[in-house]
Amino acid sequence: MANPKYAEAERPIPQPTEAGQLSDGTKIMVRAPRQRACGLKDEKGKLCAGHLKRWYFFGEEIKRLYGENAEIYRCENCKSIYLPNPDETPRSGTLAY
Ligand SMILES: [Zn+2]
Repeated sequence: MANPKYAEAERPIPQPTEAGQLSDGTKIMVRAPRQRACGLKDEKGKLCAGHLKRWYFFGEEIKRLYGENAEIYRCENCKSIYLPNPDETPRSGTLAY
């Protein structure tokens, strides 16, 4: 008898999309929905898996790109910048286009 229990694992995991780079080479990523851990891989293909934390101390370059009150996350491990996923409801409520 086939066991359908494992079929669920075949679903693709949402991946973050690359949104560019800062002038110092820091990667800017857009979070996949509900993503909480960094999905970047190092040169050896090892998953970073660092925790994505809300980051408030970003510099002028990010302010220029995304505004002073931007919702920015940063990987604890590799320091890559993560932007919130546009499909998720922002928590700040200060979205102004
Ligand atoms: Zn990372």
